[in-house]
Amino acid sequence: MSASPPSENASTSPDVVIIGGGPGGYVAAIRAGQLGLATTCVEMDATLGGTCVNVGCIPSKALLESSEHYEFAKLHAAEHGVMLGDVSLDLTRMMARKDTVVGQNTKGIEFLFKKNKVTWARGRGTLRREGEQLLVDVAASDGTTTTLRPRAVIIATGSVPIELPFLKFDEERVLSNVGALKIPKVPKHLLVIGGGVIGLELGSVWRRLGAKVTVVEMLPTILAGNDADVVREAERVFKKQGLELRTGTRVTGARRKMDRVLVDIEKNGASETIDADYVLVSVGRRPALTGIDATALGLTLGTRGEIAVDDRMRTNIPNVYAIGDCVGGALLAHKAEEEGVVAVEAIAGMDVHMHYNTIPAVVYTWPEIAALGLTEQQARDAGREVRVGKFPFSANGRARTAGETTGFIKVIADARTDELLGAHLIGPHVSELVSELVLGMEFRASAEDVGITVHAHPTLSETTKEAALGVLGRALHI
Ligand code: FAD
Repeated sequence: MSASPPSENASTSPDVVIIGGGPGGYVAAIRAGQLGLATTCVEMDATLGGTCVNVGCIPSKALLESSEHYEFAKLHAAEHGVMLGDVSLDLTRMMARKDTVVGQNTKGIEFLFKKNKVTWARGRGTLRREGEQLLVDVAASDGTTTTLRPRAVIIATGSVPIELPFLKFDEERVLSNVGALKIPKVPKHLLVIGGGVIGLELGSVWRRLGAKVTVVEMLPTILAGNDADVVREAERVFKKQGLELRTGTRVTGARRKMDRVLVDIEKNGASETIDADYVLVSVGRRPALTGIDATALGLTLGTRGEIAVDDRMRTNIPNVYAIGDCVGGALLAHKAEEEGVVAVEAIAGMDVHMHYNTIPAVVYTWPEIAALGLTEQQARDAGREVRVGKFPFSANGRARTAGETTGFIKVIADARTDELLGAHLIGPHVSELVSELVLGMEFRASAEDVGITVHAHPTLSETTKEAALGVLGRALHI
């Protein structure tokens, strides 16, 4: 085994080694650089950014934007008096634009690494221990291996999609997110297994581009765990848009037949076979522990194979931290990023801890869906007495000007103290609108605090104000 430094200038004894360059790992690396820690980030892919930047958040949002423009041009431009004639799709160009956007982001992270003096060790990292000393072996693609001897290690190895035992990914016809982001032509019939965020976002992309899309979900509703009012509205709107939703339906078997996939489903004892040219399996993700031999290291895992951590992101091994999808919880890029910052600041001796009460979760369909804090049911199940305010976008002037009047904002507050407990939004641009409520909850605002705050007119954000006033029975425009 030959040892060579990961880059000419890099130390083989950095303060911190981060294994994984996704949103958790790369943000941790930047923060460590800011704090003056000698930092190496080990990433085995050809580009930085992990799942989110390469095959997740960014390419899916690029395609959601493009397909939304296409659908708008076809269905709604004329309502505005904009007559476009025949609108056609250039899928190759749409995909190329998506790839350009991804490239801008991955290059951006490389720039930020340089700016913050972070070394990127290109290769597959393996963590081991020699007594108290932590060692990370980095195996590069040229066959060389470098051993790093850091003071602290942050594991940020992410997650991978779960496969169905009878339907293995081939990324040709049986797709994970990776294949579903680059289908070479618009499917005739795309079957999506799993009615969660990824299935609904990517299903929406291909429906807008002209595919018939069927979503099969085992649970009684799509978007399990979301507020019941929001789920009802989402199901209504998605069905109206043409998504076929088969809830309470189990997939029992599947086989490939030439360029088709035959998938057996069952609902209430009745069986059926769906014939699709592409299948997206989006039934969840599991922690990826590449290069992390938990047994050999003595690393404690949770029941789902996730790395167990405390609120400073410390594992049970001294000086080994873990963040992001590999520690479970909400599989979200911004949650991974916050955990990364907490881990690094804890390593630097700062007084920090991670809390999860105010992490928003967004579904970037149209209308968008955003969830924050407790649902009404969760609050009631927890024995809280609650008051709820709900305001529809159909009563908002700005939404009417845009012709985007679907959905509502629902605010949940404690009945005694009026403290905000949660908010559930479905409608135009709610991915942006939710931030005001996140800030409110972070500062333990009351519904009245939001309700008496001046919001510019006409804006979609007036819907937030009105929903908050609604908690107090004081909404003005309804
Ligand atoms: P990852 O992003 O998975 O990064 C882990 C990195 O570690 C990878 O680059 C991997 O190559 C590297 N690695 C692993 N093991 C090793 C090793 N031993 N040596 C070297 N490198 C290693 N979240 C949102 O918040 N918003 C969204 O809109 C959103 N959209 C999504 C859409 C899709 C289709 C998918 C699949 C996910 C989406 N997510 C979204 C989730 C988000 O992508 C993840 O939560 C996020 O990427 C987790 O970050 P991470 O750093 O924990 O792991």
